[in-house]
Formats: sequence, structure tokens, C-alpha cells
Amino acid sequence: MFGLKTDWSMEVLPRYFTLEDYEGGVARWCPGCGDHAVLAAVQRICRDEQLLPEKTVCVSGIGCSSRFPHYMKTYGFHGLHGRALPVACGVKSRRPDLTVWVATGDGDCCSIGTAHWIHAIRYNMDMVVMVFDNNIYGLTKAQTSPTSRVGLKTNTHPSGALLPPLNPSTVTLGISNVSFVAQTVDWNPVHLHSTLLAAYQHKGLSFVRIMQRCPQYTAAVFDAAQQDPSLVMLLNHEDGIGLDPAVAKIFPNQATHDPSNLHEAMAVASRDDVIPIGLLFRDPDCPRYEEMTSHGVGMTAEEKLAGLEAELDKFAL
Ligand code: SF4
Repeated sequence: MFGLKTDWSMEVLPRYFTLEDYEGGVARWCPGCGDHAVLAAVQRICRDEQLLPEKTVCVSGIGCSSRFPHYMKTYGFHGLHGRALPVACGVKSRRPDLTVWVATGDGDCCSIGTAHWIHAIRYNMDMVVMVFDNNIYGLTKAQTSPTSRVGLKTNTHPSGALLPPLNPSTVTLGISNVSFVAQTVDWNPVHLHSTLLAAYQHKGLSFVRIMQRCPQYTAAVFDAAQQDPSLVMLLNHEDGIGLDPAVAKIFPNQATHDPSNLHEAMAVASRDDVIPIGLLFRDPDCPRYEEMTSHGVGMTAEEKLAGLEAELDKFAL
């Protein structure tokens, strides 16, 4: 026995992750809910990009879509109402090596979470923020949300919503240091997947507004756009969302839009006669907060203590 050395090193075997490796519990969303399509798209991207499950985090607030982390077999944080973004920013600031997906709804993000939304865009930390915009509070059974259209009958406004809706994309485009804004629809899985993939590949905060069907409470909202494809306008550009030409040709209504043009992005996003889908804006050069503040993240406890003592010594007599 004497003289023998124990080799404690472990061989790290190559791993290949399948879709099942990212699939959590069975999703309990209503049949036909658009959330199912978004979940499938994110799981496919995780598989295609071979994201390490232990280095992937899904963060959410409160709402139907915020059940997202439960259905991913990654790390997850189902937070408080409107607070998905501060949690996600906290994760990213101390663990910039993690991939962060944020699931939030129009009520969660654009009402109680508005202050966090604005500052998260400005901080521009590298994460994908998916806003599931179904124009209603679904989980609490049909109250008017900030994106509800005028006249939509809800529990809080039985005679119809009174105020013009807030547009999440134009608001985001107006925030300083915005770096990526896109729109897509849940009922075209290829465009949805391509948009979320481009968002994942962007370095910075990628804000993706997803027009999401809620057959339970706002079944009619996106009906016309599904029946008549010309009511969806596909944005094209060599720097935009790359889309399979076979899929692109199903959109009779297409427009060229340069995603580096913020002024034009605002005009396109403001259109309410059609649903513009594609990349509205991208600026890859916006500063990212976690890059500027991650100094010292990898320090040992001893190094941190030594640094602290060195600072305190400056005040010693
Ligand atoms: Fe989806 Fe609407 Fe059902 Fe919520 S209430 S799970 S948003 S269909």
C-alpha cells in the first residue's frame, strides 16, 4: 500500500445533449397556447447550440409564461411579479459565464416591472428577454394589461379597455443603450426559432416581443393576422433575421428595413395596420454592464480578503 498514489482526477467525458436533456415537466399551459411554441424553440436552440444545462438559467416573473423555468431542465428562478429582470441582471453580473433566458409577459414586464425593464435595457447585460405579449393578464383570468387594445372586454373593463395600448417595442427603442429589438409571432415556428437564435447570438440584451396567442382569453386578437398573412409584414435585410427562403415566401407582405437605423426602426415598430416581424434594431457596440463590472469575479476568498485589508490599511494611522 505504501508508496501508492491515489489519482483523484476524473476524466471528463464528451457529452452530447438531446432535446430530452432540456425538457422539464409537462407544460400545463392551455391547449393551443402560444407559450408551447416558444418553449419548443428555446429547447431546440439549447440542443443545437449544445448549451450546458448546468450553465443555463431561465428566469421569470409571474404570469402564465413565467412558468417557463419549470419546463426547462436547466437552472431556473421563478421570481416575483415584475421582478424577472433584476434577478436576471443579478445572475449575469456575478456569473457572466452563464446563458440567461428571461420569460416575462406584457403584464409582468410592461406594468409592475416597468422600472426594471427600462434600466435592464440600459444596462445591456448579455441575455435574451422574451416578452410573451398576449394583450391580457391570463394567469389571473383576464384583466386589462398595458398592451390590451381599446375595446377589449376584460374583467377589469367589462365594457372594453379604455386607453390606447403601450407598444413594448417602441418603448424599448426609446431607451438609451438599447442594443437589440426584434418582433416575431408564435404561430410561425421557423421565424420564431430564427429570431430567438439571432437574439441568443447577439452580445448584449436582446429584447424579443413575441405576439403570443391566448386562446383562453384573447382568442380573437391575432385571428385576422393568422387568416390573412398579408397582415404580417416580414422585415428583410442582409443584417436582419436570416430566414429560410421557402418560409419567407409565404409572407406576401415584405419590406426592407436596415436594423442599424434607429429612427426607421421606431417608425416600423409603430405600425398598427400590420404586425412587423423581424429585426427592428441592432447595435453590437453598446457597452455591456457586466463586462465593466466583472473585474474580480474569479478571485479567491483569500485574494478578496487581502484586497480588502490593503484598502483598509490606507486609513491606518
Ligand atoms: Fe396560455 Fe392564455 Fe391559457 Fe395562459 S390563459 S396558459 S396565456 S392560453
